[in-house]
Amino acid sequence: MATFLPFTTRIELPFWKAVNEKKLHEWKLDESPKPILGQLSYSEITGKECSLLMTYKSFNTNEIPKQESISGFMHLYNTAESFKAAMTAESKKKILEDETAKIWDSITSHAWLKNPELLSKFFMITFVDLKKFKYFSITCVPGLYFPSEIQQEINKDDLYGADPKTLFSHMAETSSTVFLFCRKSATILEVSHLESVNNPDDFAIVVADPSTVSYTAGWPVRNVLAAVAQLHSSWNHCHVISLRSTGSIGIKFMWTNNISSQEKSLNFVPKSAGWDKLYNVDLRQKFDPVLQVDNSVNLNNELMKWRQLPDIRLERYSKLKVWLVFIKWFNFPLQVLILGAGTIGCNVARGLIAWGVSHITFVDNSTVSYSNPVRQSLSEFEDAKNDRGKAETAAKALIRINPNTKAEAHMLTVPMPGHTIDKSAEAQLEKDVQKLEQLVMEHDVVYLALDSREARWLPTVLATKHRKIAISVAIGFDTFVVIRHGIGSRSDSLSHEAIAESMPYSHLSCYFCSDVTAPGNSTADRTLDQQCTVTRAGMSPQASAVATELLASILQYPDPLMCPASVDENTTMLGATPHQIRYFANRYQMILPIVKRFERCVACGDAIAKQYQQHGWKFVLDVMNSPSRLEQVTGLDALQESVNAIDIEFDEDEDTTDE
Ligand SMILES: [Zn+2]
Repeated sequence: MATFLPFTTRIELPFWKAVNEKKLHEWKLDESPKPILGQLSYSEITGKECSLLMTYKSFNTNEIPKQESISGFMHLYNTAESFKAAMTAESKKKILEDETAKIWDSITSHAWLKNPELLSKFFMITFVDLKKFKYFSITCVPGLYFPSEIQQEINKDDLYGADPKTLFSHMAETSSTVFLFCRKSATILEVSHLESVNNPDDFAIVVADPSTVSYTAGWPVRNVLAAVAQLHSSWNHCHVISLRSTGSIGIKFMWTNNISSQEKSLNFVPKSAGWDKLYNVDLRQKFDPVLQVDNSVNLNNELMKWRQLPDIRLERYSKLKVWLVFIKWFNFPLQVLILGAGTIGCNVARGLIAWGVSHITFVDNSTVSYSNPVRQSLSEFEDAKNDRGKAETAAKALIRINPNTKAEAHMLTVPMPGHTIDKSAEAQLEKDVQKLEQLVMEHDVVYLALDSREARWLPTVLATKHRKIAISVAIGFDTFVVIRHGIGSRSDSLSHEAIAESMPYSHLSCYFCSDVTAPGNSTADRTLDQQCTVTRAGMSPQASAVATELLASILQYPDPLMCPASVDENTTMLGATPHQIRYFANRYQMILPIVKRFERCVACGDAIAKQYQQHGWKFVLDVMNSPSRLEQVTGLDALQESVNAIDIEFDEDEDTTDE
């Protein structure tokens, strides 16, 4: 009895990497069969098998020489359940029958004579668990049991007069894996000539054979025999040259040609086999763990894209595109500056890395104290014990969480109105102001997560000057406020209708716009309970989460720097893009006011911008020593007098301290 060596699938790691990539970015939830290529070898000497190699080249039809490849389809299922359903005996029988019928069709139609690769096909049933890096697959190369009983005689030393070198060069030149060798003329002919051959002893059929066993033909020979027996139903034998670089052999195959009535019927399809074993691989250890984290972070966001928001622009969280083309020339990473590495700063950073933001810079001037770790998501007891800087601690923690994060830390005091300094500290002040301005310029987004009202003043002036997305986050005992500051020129006219539901980004107020007093030293003359933020534990995580989501929404707007304040949930892919979010925990209520910019604002007003432009750090020095400078510059002093005259109480932000 002739035996045919079956295929064993070998799957290289890069194949699964390619599947990961394609699944995430190209196929997504599409379960339709995907064309792939398996690679064959005619010089393999290890093992006893026909090796079907799956590599990264399997998805690129041009990368594998045609004569070394076998084409097929991959059925990649989305869920373990659908994979299991495809793996039942009944499902497997059905798919094998279907694929066998296709091969038999190419045999009975004689299409194979023009296109012999129609005889060798494979398919693969696969499930990948991208979260756990587990891969399940089974392949099948259908081999037809036709004729039903075949005998063989090996003629090891007799290749019917053929020179294997000539046969190999013909294969390389023509990319054909099945052709004829005429024994009388010692010439090579295309396999299509077989139709007109009468005597099976005149020719040998050359088949490129991946078998590694010297006395056994490989699996592809089986379907060639089926095709020959079907083409010439009167024949009861034929000669085959099993072509391999490790030593080709000649084989005479014999069978009985009593074709049964069943085999003659039109609906007849031979039985077949060809299943390999199920492969179940856990590649968690094999993949670079750092890469794995990045893939997995992206995975959560990609899943959101598949399931909820097919058009969401995820690249905006990791890369800048055209939208900042005037500021940056091309594709730089989105860089976020977080001023204040306290509870808000840490929680905002955690939210941002989950969205795929990879470049985060912290600025803080203090060290971790024992009260911090329970509320700050990026510091621990040891950091307090060793008096480590808050910014440095937060940056290091981010890198520990995801080694792909580029996190930086700067220990820097933000100059504050009312915090007077003497002559000796002026040189340092100049450096600090310059450093802060440089940091604001280098980043695309600035979070003001600082622990006092006055600390937000200079960052607001700088973010306004450099047209950066600036988001202030502040918490009180049971309240929080998240405000995005207006960006850009205020010269555009503003209609009254627009104010109610929507307002251009350029017209939005900053954190200070509602105040008619300049920020002063809020920590002076305060008792401990007044200096520390007394706040319900859940305020910071909620405020930070809202502040992160606000940026996520803004970045989905076609041009984020033009994103209007809007409570319309159709404004972007992620919904509304409010100006302010104010939350009151005592009644679990959120309100979304839209507030117009105040021309005489002590932080974002034009007069302040002008003064800073003219005097730079010296203006900051002035303001530090005498905050009332701000009121004079903006004309607020005059306004205050008129306000006092009509005795209105302004309670905006009064109980909203920070951190
Ligand atoms: Zn303002």
